[in-house]
Amino acid sequence: MLKRGDDYLEGLRDGRIIYVGGERVDDVTTHPGFRNAARSYARIYDARFEEAYRDILSYEEGGERYATYFLQPRSRADLEKRTKSSEVIAELTYGMMGRSPDFVGGYIAGAAMQPEVFNSGKHKFAAHVTNFYNYCRRSDVFLSHAVTPPQGTRDKKMYQRDAARVPALGVVAEDDAGVTISGTKMLATSAAFSDEIWIGNILPLAEGHENESVTCVIPPNAPGLSLWSRKTYERYAVSEFDNYLSYHFDESDCIVVCDNVKVPWERVFTHNDIELSRQIYFRTPAHTLSNHQAGVRFAAKMKLLLGLARLITKSSGIASVPAVADDLGHLAALYGMMKGMIHGQIQDHETLPNGFVNYNRHYMYSAIYFATQNYDLICAKVRELSGGSVLQMPADISVLHNAETRELFEELWQTPTHSAIERFKLFKLAWDLLGTDFAGRHLQYERFYMGPAFVVRGHNSRECPWVEIDEYVTELLDRIEPGDLLDRGVGPKKAAEAQPAAPLPIK
Ligand SMILES: Cc1cc2nc3c(=O)[nH]c(=O)nc-3n(C[C@H](O)[C@H](O)[C@H](O)COP(=O)(O)OP(=O)(O)OC[C@H]3O[C@@H](n4cnc5c(N)ncnc54)[C@H](O)[C@@H]3O)c2cc1C
Repeated sequence: MLKRGDDYLEGLRDGRIIYVGGERVDDVTTHPGFRNAARSYARIYDARFEEAYRDILSYEEGGERYATYFLQPRSRADLEKRTKSSEVIAELTYGMMGRSPDFVGGYIAGAAMQPEVFNSGKHKFAAHVTNFYNYCRRSDVFLSHAVTPPQGTRDKKMYQRDAARVPALGVVAEDDAGVTISGTKMLATSAAFSDEIWIGNILPLAEGHENESVTCVIPPNAPGLSLWSRKTYERYAVSEFDNYLSYHFDESDCIVVCDNVKVPWERVFTHNDIELSRQIYFRTPAHTLSNHQAGVRFAAKMKLLLGLARLITKSSGIASVPAVADDLGHLAALYGMMKGMIHGQIQDHETLPNGFVNYNRHYMYSAIYFATQNYDLICAKVRELSGGSVLQMPADISVLHNAETRELFEELWQTPTHSAIERFKLFKLAWDLLGTDFAGRHLQYERFYMGPAFVVRGHNSRECPWVEIDEYVTELLDRIEPGDLLDRGVGPKKAAEAQPAAPLPIK
């Protein structure tokens, strides 16, 4: 059943332990570092009941309605519906919340499209995945994930460094009821706001670290579990006006710390199987469904950046300078590329043997690579177009609360086309996206959320249709035979004697 925003917020008041520095957060729905982000998520839940969004954000099956990100696609129309749903969610949050419920929602929907993969290793866990998927869509669960093992525990072949015993999350005991896990895991974005945390390994573990190869799901209020948040930017927002994005959309990132957390078997999906614990993301559509969302969300953020760049240049009176117009054209081209790569994933979608379809996974990884490699450059370009304007605005909104400073500000900061307050608002918003703590975190997020660049290149290499490409080149090479040297004489007689090439064979 679809939850409403208030039901969702109520679910967060479950005694979960979150630390910000030495402070224990009692309730994320009221704490000044978290409460607005919680409301931004609640807004997504409520949107599903609005006429304009209902049929995009939810679907009906067996007389029940479910969130679209739990839809397991069987047709191109289903893929389009999932994409549209992610677009609406991303635009409700201006692309600022990467781990909105549709991200890891894609993991479980995708994993449950090929649950037999979870029977292929040392254990038979397929039914756990199917049952958990059914539970998630029935109870409208918000999942976050921590699937990055700490640096020291990763596979030497890939990371070129010896594995070390660090306090990495792993199974420390097991019995008839389930497993017990202890240790830490990186870096669960939105875990503070989620109903369940998916624990796993998207990067390969080193041999000997089998006990860390557990994939399981735990609720944030599980006894023994605590979440250690980075600095919250929402808390330090000067005002809604000054830091609109930090104030509303700080999704938070937490280290997950487990101290003998009990996980029942039905919530365990892989165990003692290093290879399978990573392969589940690629041998099922899990990684593709979730990261298609990441591309759609990135496009929503690009849309904001592009719009800001255009308004800034208009406000500064430079929009028609040819070099500036050229820069806007460059940004417009990048935005178009990103949108094209998203829709190409639908156009060239894959058909799976069991009647399901999936986005084109190679294009998906290419789109993410494009995003990770270009975000800094896009921001740098918008900063360049902004010049010093972003820093010429008064310190904060209090300038408008003092009649004397307000009058002067309104007179001196206006331009022939824009009032002082319009410019103030625009440049504050731009700086929150380009220059604040919140902005810096986004630079890091966009570069690393799928892993470092060499890992993303590895995904592209894995999914590239090398066989087709090899055949393409081999077929050309096969046409080329050793033969006579052409007579390169240039006189009219030689040209007349030259024989045209035989027609190319038609494939
Ligand atoms: C804001 C943010 C949010 C995140 N959210 C989540 C989340 O929700 N869930 C989750 O599970 N994870 C999340 N992550 C973690 C993310 O998956 C990891 O940060 C990412 O995998 C990179 O790992 P790392 O930080 O250990 O960097 P490293 O892997 O240590 O890489 C650091 C640098 O070293 C380079 N490097 C290291 N080894 C090699 C090598 N062999 N060859 C070439 N270069 C190398 C890398 O290219 C990189 O530049 C998040 C990260 C950030 C920054």
